[in-house]
This record gives sequence, structure tokens and C-alpha cells, in this order.
Amino acid sequence: MRIFSGIQPTGRKHLGNYIGAIVQYVAGQERGEAIYCIVDLHALTVPFEPAELPVLVYDTAAILLAAGLDPERCILFRQSDVREHSELTWLLTAVTAKGDLERMTQFKDKSARQRELVTAGLFFYPVLMAADVLAYRTHEVPVGDDQRQHLELMRDIAIRFNSRFGEQLVVPEARIPEVGARIMDLQDPTSKMSTTSGSEEGRVYVLDEPAEIERKFKRAVTDSGSGIRRASDKPGISNLIDILAAVRATTPEQVEAEFADSGYGDFKAAVAAAVTAYLAPVRERYNELRPDEARLEEILAAGAERARAIASATVADVRGAMGVGAPR
Ligand code: ATP
Ligand code: MG
Repeated sequence: MRIFSGIQPTGRKHLGNYIGAIVQYVAGQERGEAIYCIVDLHALTVPFEPAELPVLVYDTAAILLAAGLDPERCILFRQSDVREHSELTWLLTAVTAKGDLERMTQFKDKSARQRELVTAGLFFYPVLMAADVLAYRTHEVPVGDDQRQHLELMRDIAIRFNSRFGEQLVVPEARIPEVGARIMDLQDPTSKMSTTSGSEEGRVYVLDEPAEIERKFKRAVTDSGSGIRRASDKPGISNLIDILAAVRATTPEQVEAEFADSGYGDFKAAVAAAVTAYLAPVRERYNELRPDEARLEEILAAGAERARAIASATVADVRGAMGVGAPR
């Protein structure tokens, strides 16, 4: 079984990325042939600084390695190093409906927030993402809940391609965690914790110091009532319950039972302590790994070489099936 997922090098990664995606990446190494990609081309869809981009790729690579990705047991690479992703994107536009792209909620949300240029890249983002996954004939894609719609679209693209040009592509399945698939912003618990929207205070970074983590949970927005239980009118407390359950690898029901008699203050302190302990070893390993950029580059380059071998075979088949290039 082949597993593939991509993660953006935009900014520092947060607790939502960690619980919703990165933990699943690490587990994927045991479950199949795991391929993970730092998607620098996706980062071009919103404002970015050219001088920062390579640095952010190293930051992200070091976080992933610190979390437990092992270059001996997975392929880890930089998206732009494998040019096949770009070529396949264009080929797949031939089987992508413009109307489907217009319906994507991520495009609607991100374009509405954009003050300057709404790029065509933001609109085509889901096609590039489809190319990332389909280039590896992937069976399973570990992602957070926010990527459900993009996964559906890439399945439609693969199905349309196969019925028009012959069975070439694997139709992938999303793998979305049961607990923690949608960690919410601590200051606005009706929106997902996000890299590009929301406030600094609403986001817990994987690399935050313990004092920062404690402060952010202490100030987390909750309702004016009481009771540690999940409810639609208690999005803040529900989010904290999910976070604690995910971090402790237990269920939200167990968290509710344990804190049935607790007040909000004690509960928030318990969540902060658990998250601090959970992230501390990752931060320590990050600090060890991050300075050695030559080693990071070596890992990414070796990963790209292995990735290219797989992706180039798929793209050759896709070109052939579509009649693109000299006859085979
Ligand atoms: P942006 O909000 O700008 O899109 P992001 O925070 O979503 O950035 P990505 O690199 O796009 O970061 O996402 C990486 C992975 O993390 C994806 O699989 C995504 O589904 C997952 N993810 C993102 N936010 C959350 C969240 N709040 N809870 C759970 N998973 C999340
Ligand atoms: Mg995202």
C-alpha cells in the first residue's frame, strides 16, 4: 500500500498540523510505502518572500524529522525538486471541471481574505494537489478534515481520467483521524487553527516554549457556562477536550468522565501541561536537527531522486494515454 501526503512550508507548523497530519505521517511508515512532500509550489499561491522560502522548507523538514519521520523508512522530499508534479498538473487540467474548482471552500475562504492579488495559482491549488497524489498512484492520503473536499475532487479527476483515457491512475482514499481531525483556533473556536488566518494567540506552534503554550491555553476562549463536556454551543471546551484526547491517545468520552467535576481553569491547565509534555521532545530534537542544513538538503535530495523515479513513470504513462508527445 502506498501512502502520500504533502505539507506546506508556510510559517511554523501548529498543533492542528501536528495532530491532524504529522502524527499520521509517522504512523504511515509502519503501514505502507510512505511518501511525504514539502509543497513549496503550493506556498506560491499566497503572498511569500523568495528569500524565506528555502529557509521555511528546512524548518518544515526539521519538524517532520523531529516528529519521527525516518528517511530510511519513508521518502521525504521537496515538491519543486520533482518537476513531474508541475507537468502532471497541466495534463490533469484537461479532466478538471472549472465549476468544481469554483466550489472549493478553501479557494473561496482564502481568496476572500486576500487583500491584494488573488492568484490563478490559488484557484488551481487543488489540481496541483491532485497531481502530487496521483503521480505516485497513491492508495491512502493522511490529511486533516479541511482537506476532505480536495480529496473528493482528486478522486473525481482520477475517475474521469481513467474513463476517458484508460485505467492509468489509482483513485486514492482519504485517511482522516477520528479524534483531532479539526483542531480549532483557541481564540475563535468556530474556525480551524490555520497558518494563514486567525491570530498568533489562537495558534499553538509545535516549537512554542512551555510558557507560551501555558499562556495560550489559559487565554483560550470558552463559553460562560460550566461543565467539561462537548456540545455545539461549547465549541471552545469541545476543542480542548479533543486536543487532550488526541494528545493522550484516548477518547473524548474518557476526558469528559475524568474532568466531570473540574472547573474550566483546572481543565485548561491540564490541557496545557499535557500539550507541553507532548511537544517538548519534538522541540528538543528540532533544535538538534535544524542547524545542519547540509544534512537536511542531503535527505531532501535523496528523497527527490527516489520520488522522481516513481512520478516520471506515471507521467510517461499519462502522456502516452493522452497522446501527448511523440508516439510510443
Ligand atoms: P493554511 O491554513 O494556510 O492552509 P494549514 O495550517 O492548513 O495552512 P497545511 O500545510 O496546508 O497547513 O496543512 C498540512 C496538513 O495539516 C493538512 O493535512 C491539513 O489537513 C492539516 N491541518 C491543517 N489545519 C488543521 C487543523 N486545524 N486541524 C487538523 N488538521 C489540520
Ligand atoms: Mg491548509
